[in-house]
Amino acid sequence: MRGVVLHAPRDVRVEQRPDPKIEQPTDAIIRVTASCVCGSDLWPYRGIEPVSQPAPMGHEYVGVVQEVGREVRTIKPGQFVIGSFWASDNTCEICRAGYQSSCVHRVLMGTIGTQAELARIPLADGTLVATPEVPGDDLVPSLLAASDVLGTGWFGAVAAEVQPGRTVVVVGDGAVGLLAILAARQLGAERIIAMSRHEPRQKLALEFGATDIVTERGDDGVATIKELTDGLGAHSVIEAVGTQESMLQAIQSARPGGHVGFVGVAHGVELPGEVLFSSAVHLHGGPAPVRRFLPELIQLISDQAIDPGRVFDLTVPLDQAADGYRAMDERRAIKTLLRP
Ligand SMILES: [Zn+2]
Repeated sequence: MRGVVLHAPRDVRVEQRPDPKIEQPTDAIIRVTASCVCGSDLWPYRGIEPVSQPAPMGHEYVGVVQEVGREVRTIKPGQFVIGSFWASDNTCEICRAGYQSSCVHRVLMGTIGTQAELARIPLADGTLVATPEVPGDDLVPSLLAASDVLGTGWFGAVAAEVQPGRTVVVVGDGAVGLLAILAARQLGAERIIAMSRHEPRQKLALEFGATDIVTERGDDGVATIKELTDGLGAHSVIEAVGTQESMLQAIQSARPGGHVGFVGVAHGVELPGEVLFSSAVHLHGGPAPVRRFLPELIQLISDQAIDPGRVFDLTVPLDQAADGYRAMDERRAIKTLLRP
């Protein structure tokens, strides 16, 4: 099969890789209908995460089941399925508490690489959710978004305790931040303040439900949020970047007693104890347990109540994956969909 391999920073190649095989009796093999490039793929692409050896890429996927191992019970060949970037058994104590991304048997899909024609899915019964029927092509981008960016944005909103009537700040205007806005709208937020300085992204933020746009960052951004919230700060803040500046901006934009949901993959974040102590906020976040939300998100997408696939503003054939990475790196594209 063909698949994307990152050889070194900015060296993305599509090459022949071995076809995946059933390795464990709980595995499934899927034919990937669509995959995509994640903001987190840009960390190794930019060399911020080291690339020590050629690495298969990709952890977002939707596809059709080709084959299942002998212990797979609920997932069947021919089904259209969606899974998260962590494979999980969905039965251990941590999974049952709703934290499938920390499953005691978890497998990181990025180590398998779903930017490919085929993919092995470990723990298929726990990981995959099948749609009632094979969806039309028009729903594929939105279902693919559920695999990570929508599920992650949704978790950010849930972790930030977004509820009807609340004021929500979203730090970050990548696909996760934009879909956190959509999630906050669905969860009933009254006011949603998007922090963004990129015009096309501001436009999508407003379409997904943002009520205000703040272009300032850092201390200036915090000061503007305070001005917009009677000096108090927001009830809920969703952090969707993962840098020192964005985390501090998120914590300081929340009111005392407020909630920060942090879902940006942290890089070099070190929080000063005195800032945490004086903020009096709740912090909750980490790798999103997307699997928890998949059934609900698939239903909302099937009902066409939400259209998260709009974050894909570039679609390229798998063979042109390098162009897709470059467009995201240069911020010409919010998110690139890859068609094997
Ligand atoms: Zn588990």
